Amino acid sequence: MNGCTCNTPHGAECDHTHRDELLDPGRRMFMASAVAAGAAATVGFSSISAVAAPSEDKKKFMEEATRLAIESVEKGWGGPFGAVIVKDGEIIGRGQNRVLLTGVPVFHAEITAIIDASTRLNPKALLGSDYGAGTILEMIPREEGSPDPVPERARMLKGCEIYINGAPCPMCMSAIYWSRIDHLYFAASLKDTSAIGFDDAFQYEDFAKPWTERRIAVTEGFERDTGLKAYEAWMNKQDRHPY
Ligand SMILES: [Zn+2]
Repeated sequence: MNGCTCNTPHGAECDHTHRDELLDPGRRMFMASAVAAGAAATVGFSSISAVAAPSEDKKKFMEEATRLAIESVEKGWGGPFGAVIVKDGEIIGRGQNRVLLTGVPVFHAEITAIIDASTRLNPKALLGSDYGAGTILEMIPREEGSPDPVPERARMLKGCEIYINGAPCPMCMSAIYWSRIDHLYFAASLKDTSAIGFDDAFQYEDFAKPWTERRIAVTEGFERDTGLKAYEAWMNKQDRHPY
């Protein structure tokens, strides 16, 4: 099996580029390297038993998300937030908050877990070279009753669950939508998060307001015709790949 975790019953015939082959620092950006470092930091965690009861597994997944969060605090890497992504009862992605390690304000646990899971399931996509069957960029049809404007789009992390030790901020919730993750489990509430000094809740409130009433100044429709040239380029691309 070459240790491949991609989602295809290809057995020994797998020819995907595997995660280890992508660790060449010349090809991977700083962000991806930091995510890989996160995965390396967690090798001590034993894999979940396939025979355990599902509810018992879910509990362990949340415990692992919390362990990652505590590690981030203890090492001074970031806030107390950890996440794991699960497919077919197995953890395929881990993430922890690394804002203080990197100085990158958006280095949240959910984002890093999504990058970790995506690179594992679809390593070639990092190089923009594989949209094929078995990759997460494989096209799947729109579900019946879905308001999706296109008839099919990339699978992404459909079929996966995410476990987070605290409620997601709007950015991470949006990342979960983009990833097409099926089910989100979170432990601590937004109120719990506010109580320890992180103000995520106001963002949810702000999003519900008109553009002109947001806390950050927004100029709507500025040079619209210029921006639309990029949309036109997308629509004119014959082989565009909805995701
Ligand atoms: Zn977040």
